[in-house]
Amino acid sequence: MRIGDIDILPVSDGMVGMEQAFFVGLDFAAHPQLLADDGRVHIPVGCFLIRTGGRTVLIDAGFGHVQEEAVDCGYLPQALRAAGVSPAEIDVVACTHLHLDHIGWLVADGAPFFPNAVVRYGQADWEHFASGAYSHDHVRQIMQPLQAEDRLDPFDGDLETVAPGLTARHTPGHTPGHYGFMVASGDDRAYILGDAVESPLQIEEGDFHALSDVAPEVAARTREALLQEIEGSEHAMTGSHFPELAFGRVVTGTGRRFVPVG
Ligand SMILES: [Zn+2]
Repeated sequence: MRIGDIDILPVSDGMVGMEQAFFVGLDFAAHPQLLADDGRVHIPVGCFLIRTGGRTVLIDAGFGHVQEEAVDCGYLPQALRAAGVSPAEIDVVACTHLHLDHIGWLVADGAPFFPNAVVRYGQADWEHFASGAYSHDHVRQIMQPLQAEDRLDPFDGDLETVAPGLTARHTPGHTPGHYGFMVASGDDRAYILGDAVESPLQIEEGDFHALSDVAPEVAARTREALLQEIEGSEHAMTGSHFPELAFGRVVTGTGRRFVPVG
């Protein structure tokens, strides 16, 4: 994927088989094709490598080496190697949010896996997952070594620049400090929306949500605003868990549809 002068390469950390109950309100009888043989919805754990203005940015850091029932993850390092990028070349890792399937490779064996990278994420997620009432041991275990080495540079507002042409936008709801990313060069634009849009089907049928949404109503409002902004334009968008990590356009007419590009 190329947006003007900017290269975007989807890289997958692996696959997770989600139970049907994860998709709250989705009528699987109407969409049997979503289910694999094991009765689960298999989704990729996506990351995106962006090269812009001499900077190399990784959006999200996968799940890490997790092999258990319905989870087959840990392939991000080899995907980066296949792309010809070493962990030391990553200047910034920008996380859409601090759920475990987005921060897994930030730390390996207790040390930063990307030895030269600054790690960016929403401050509100730090407060929610790493320090507040909902804090999660595993999130803290990943974030503490980075904090100790002074690698953390949180997003605190809206529209923060990550690198030339790459802007972080506060897109709350899935988590309080969820950020989506906008890539812009000339008139071209692409949106990498993390878990603000959890499935292409959510573009067509807005009436279901992920069980992991911290605030589903806020997430729905955020999603609708983003889709209204994108629909009918030439701009491409994707999410962290879209099939094949494909980008697509949001087309209107007889209902809103996601049409993959490329
Ligand atoms: Zn996710």
